[in-house]
Amino acid sequence: MKKDILSKKILYWYDNNKRNLPWRTHHSKKQKQYFILVSEFMLQQTQVKTVIPYFKNFIRIIPNLKKLSKVSDKKLMKCWQGLGYYSRARSLKKTSQIIIKKHKGDIPNNFDDLKALPGVGNYTASAILAIAFNQPYIPLDGNIERVLKRYLYLKKESEIKKDKLDQKKSIFGTCKRSSDYAQALMEIGALICKPTKPLCNQCPIQKKCMSFKKQDFELTKKNKKNINKYFILKVYKRDKRYLVIKNTKFNFLKNLNIFPMEEVTKTKKFNENLNFKISNMNMSIKIKYLKNYKDFPFSNWIDQKKLDNYILPTFTKKIVRYLQNN
Ligand code: SF4
Repeated sequence: MKKDILSKKILYWYDNNKRNLPWRTHHSKKQKQYFILVSEFMLQQTQVKTVIPYFKNFIRIIPNLKKLSKVSDKKLMKCWQGLGYYSRARSLKKTSQIIIKKHKGDIPNNFDDLKALPGVGNYTASAILAIAFNQPYIPLDGNIERVLKRYLYLKKESEIKKDKLDQKKSIFGTCKRSSDYAQALMEIGALICKPTKPLCNQCPIQKKCMSFKKQDFELTKKNKKNINKYFILKVYKRDKRYLVIKNTKFNFLKNLNIFPMEEVTKTKKFNENLNFKISNMNMSIKIKYLKNYKDFPFSNWIDQKKLDNYILPTFTKKIVRYLQNN
């Protein structure tokens, strides 16, 4: 299929089927750019349907870049609480401060300046350039990647490497409506070319789709190995309060309040009390109750009955609930 016919079909489908997502409704160019910046940070690692209520709340409390650059860490974390991967929120705030200082409050519209911002990688930079600035980029997110792999029937390990997919995506071509085009491709992946049971009969590019021709929609999985880790988690309890500390030690849940923990090697005596999964890390946790309170730097005592009043990661809340029930 010629590239311009392909893009016309995709855009026609998009105009008639796009979802009404909150970051697609804006009143000015500046607001659009801010909405795209915030939503793209939130959408790193998180699905659209999870992001929607967080985005609405975030925008209500922090409606523009200037407010974001000055927001207190406490308020910022409260807005992000439950969304996970908290380093994104910290990077987003730093990014807004740099934009205010270095770019006079205008989100950069070129790849190099965007990439220099905290938390902005190749993907986020291309997504911002395409969606917010209508530049001819096709950001290869999981959805577009799936459409591309199925459309061209890319199955071999050598064909689905990132750099190879980056080259192959030129099959989609470009068009004047770059912003809509990038979103349209994402939307086809999300709504039509679903991971299981793609809805090919509703797909605007079915005619030339190789997977449809072969009636084989199976995708080759990339090997992202899970790793198992073992931890001793220390519980210090005073009245009905637990001690938590700011995590400066582990790379996960960085700078958030967690129970004091140490990583250990698994021995035969290691009987776990609970499990938790963060990204591709399977955590086996053994709980140790301790009486003699140690003086930890950056520690807090949290009241189990007022759990919702604290800015805590889901991980810590899960531990508190476990302790209450056991
Ligand atoms: S025809 Fe089916 S497999 Fe091919 S791109 Fe469309 S939805 Fe995906």
